[in-house]
Amino acid sequence: MSERKIKLEKRVFITFDIEAVTGLHIGGSDVKTEIGGVDKTVVRDPLTDRPYIPGSSLKGKMRSLLEKYNNKEINFPPNKPAFHVCQDGTKYADCDICQVFGVSGEKEFATPTRLVVRDSFLSWKSVVDLQKAQTDLPYTEVKTEVSIDRVTSAANPRQMERVPAGVIFGGKDEEGKDQPTELVYSVYSGTNCDAQKDADRLGVIIEGLKLLEDDYLGGLGSRGSGKVRFNGFKVKVLALDPEKGIREIKDFSYSTINDFSTNLTEVQGALK
Ligand SMILES: [Zn+2]
Repeated sequence: MSERKIKLEKRVFITFDIEAVTGLHIGGSDVKTEIGGVDKTVVRDPLTDRPYIPGSSLKGKMRSLLEKYNNKEINFPPNKPAFHVCQDGTKYADCDICQVFGVSGEKEFATPTRLVVRDSFLSWKSVVDLQKAQTDLPYTEVKTEVSIDRVTSAANPRQMERVPAGVIFGGKDEEGKDQPTELVYSVYSGTNCDAQKDADRLGVIIEGLKLLEDDYLGGLGSRGSGKVRFNGFKVKVLALDPEKGIREIKDFSYSTINDFSTNLTEVQGALK
């Protein structure tokens, strides 16, 4: 077996705020349905009881939109395909989505997943605003939707919990410290890795965020929920060298995702 060596060369920290332009429903476990009889609850931080955006929700939605945008084969899991995963090394080598977002299971051809998406928390300002607003449930509104049974014409009301429009995930925490949504993108060299290609692949993330702004995050999107906007991007590029240590080599800021997209090559330039 040939020697396998992978070197972590650079890291890009992308931070921003997420604004809920319409009410946001990211589903919780629905175990606690006794809370006001709500049928569809939102996911909450168990320590603060505040709604949050799990990194997995943001990452999963970006991936799913990119798969469709790039017309990728939806082939996984085998019996009930819901998303795309490259099944062999040749396809994987040319698949930006699998390289950036990762492949499930232990695949011997896989290189490290490039993208980490962290959980995103309510800004302190939104916490205070929502407390003042005395929402239906703590920090959320309850929306009743009535579906009509097409056969019996019986009305079937259902209660959906949503984080109200206008709320910001990110911003500052209770102590006034920045707590933006954070994406961490890693650039590798070595076995089956190419730092130049990783620099180019950064564009996949920008594309994913753009697609998501035109789509929706969480559930009930076709009925109006989940429109989000990304604001206040800060981008930091770090170089990693065991001799010189970990050091920041460049930083950029962009007000919107379109602004970031227009100037993407300057960030990619710092990675090459
Ligand atoms: Zn793939």
